[in-house]
Amino acid sequence: MSKHHDVLIVGAGTGGIMTAAQLKCKKPSLNLAIVDPSKDHYYQPAWTLVGAGAFDFKATRRDMASVIPQGVTWIQDFVTTFDPDNNALNTKSSGTLTYDYLVVSPGLQMDLDGIEGLREALDTPEVCSNYVDPEKTWRVLQNFKGGNAVFTQPATPIKCGGAPQKIMYLADDAFLKAGVRDNAEVVFATPGSVIFGVKDFAKTLMQVINRKGIHLKTFYNPIKIDSAKKEIHFAWTQSDTGGVVTEGNAVREKLEGETTVVMPYDMLHLAPPQSAPDFVKQSPFAHQEGPSKGWMEVDKNTLQHPRYANVFGLGDVVAVPTAKTGAAIRKQAPVVVENVLTMMKSSQLSQARYEGYSSCPLVTGYGKMVLAEFKYDNVRDSDPFLSKFVDTAKETWSM
Ligand SMILES: Cc1cc2nc3c(=O)[nH]c(=O)nc-3n(C[C@H](O)[C@H](O)[C@H](O)COP(=O)(O)OP(=O)(O)OC[C@H]3O[C@@H](n4cnc5c(N)ncnc54)[C@H](O)[C@@H]3O)c2cc1C
Repeated sequence: MSKHHDVLIVGAGTGGIMTAAQLKCKKPSLNLAIVDPSKDHYYQPAWTLVGAGAFDFKATRRDMASVIPQGVTWIQDFVTTFDPDNNALNTKSSGTLTYDYLVVSPGLQMDLDGIEGLREALDTPEVCSNYVDPEKTWRVLQNFKGGNAVFTQPATPIKCGGAPQKIMYLADDAFLKAGVRDNAEVVFATPGSVIFGVKDFAKTLMQVINRKGIHLKTFYNPIKIDSAKKEIHFAWTQSDTGGVVTEGNAVREKLEGETTVVMPYDMLHLAPPQSAPDFVKQSPFAHQEGPSKGWMEVDKNTLQHPRYANVFGLGDVVAVPTAKTGAAIRKQAPVVVENVLTMMKSSQLSQARYEGYSSCPLVTGYGKMVLAEFKYDNVRDSDPFLSKFVDTAKETWSM
């Protein structure tokens, strides 16, 4: 097998496959390879529906071989280290590979040790995560008979920022159908200050929260799970504003010390803390300092690495100030493709720019959805064609 490729892509998830398909389509003669160890390719957005019992997990999987575009070489291996000064990378068993252009898209990793007790808690019958095992989520929801149903997310960036609340809206509906909602307190505890960053969508979601009688707890950062006591501990990051809001304390939370809130749970769903894969964190491509430390550094409009001109990144791994979604990749991939092909011809970047588009289909119940589309700076960016027919910030069946 050739060890040199015109373009080498790391990761055959949404970002890698989309980029490979578009490159090959535009320039069939390209010597293009993708490195990815996995024999499976997952359509992760459907995991929200799997967790709510509305989609079959098996249907979210494809054989990796079946999604690798024709004419693209698949090197089934792990990338271990990058050596960009020599236009090379190292793999676990295929040795060193070299490239003219490199596209980095290996997604992100779940840090199950990022919250004390989380790893063990995920083995207990009450704790679940659509990010880890969506089929278990559905079992947990079905077993829930009342008490506190707590939904939360970490302070780190996560993929699909809306996913931790989508499953809650569906769970609330499922509890209603199962006749257990009257005995339940549904809680959404978030380290953030609002339910959603873009105003138009936040307004609708607050109506949903109020209609469903969900307890919204902001500035709650999960730091520990005590699965023996079935309690979750939050660092309450707004303690300087006065007493913790307890709303009559239907959820039986306690303040321990000045800043720790302890809440009992009868079921708990959470997104684990997430970070760039270790081999990216330890590479010259990662931000070395600051709030984006460890995530891949790219120009937010061209997706080019600032120090290695023949290296591009896209997908969950890159530090760009927008939501990490497959929808974002739909607008990122064409920019990477145009830039790589234009550079091959003229050593210049193309005019293509990524403006931060991302979107989140916020299912607010079975058969209802708000389509949140936005770009950099939390500016709403709803599709103009769709918007002719429907206000996508409202809950609709058609969405
Ligand atoms: C519960 C849930 C709900 C979601 N909902 C939505 C939604 O509604 N809408 C939406 O747009 N997005 C949603 N997403 C997010 C979306 O799935 C991701 O943003 C998208 O898959 C990211 O693509 P990626 O290519 O960056 O990473 P991935 O698709 O995760 O692929 C990464 C690939 O890199 C490979 N890789 C890892 N390490 C190495 C290595 N060392 N060497 C080589 N290859 C490696 C992996 O095997 C994998 O194939 C959701 C995700 C989850 C978990």
